Amino acid sequence: MNKKDPNYVVKLEKAIADKYGKEAIQNPKADWSDNKEKQYQKEVKEINRRLYQSDQSSEKVNVDGVLISKKLLTREANCTCPICGKYNLNSRDEVFILKWLCCEKCYIQYVEGREDRWKKGWRPNNGKC
Ligand SMILES: [Zn+2]
Repeated sequence: MNKKDPNYVVKLEKAIADKYGKEAIQNPKADWSDNKEKQYQKEVKEINRRLYQSDQSSEKVNVDGVLISKKLLTREANCTCPICGKYNLNSRDEVFILKWLCCEKCYIQYVEGREDRWKKGWRPNNGKC
């Protein structure tokens, strides 16, 4: 597969849709068994990993199965991760910053699977740097 293909994400999403049904893309929670949910999440993670490695030129960025246009991210992006202080963030990090207020690495380390805690304001080191 050509990794520079701008339709790469779309194709991956379609592959998931074919495998799990369109509902998986639209709403993983709806009519969804725990087992399937786990498989789906695993697949999404794998896709995200591949995107992380290959997606620098595609039109959209996939976060948790949500496609976000890169155009949304072409604002003056001069931010650093408030959690780990990482700067020079890539486009995927910026998506995570937009969504979770931390970079992708911090998301995986602190947020993933514990979104509720995060949304309630929990931060590593009690917010100290
Ligand atoms: Zn970070």
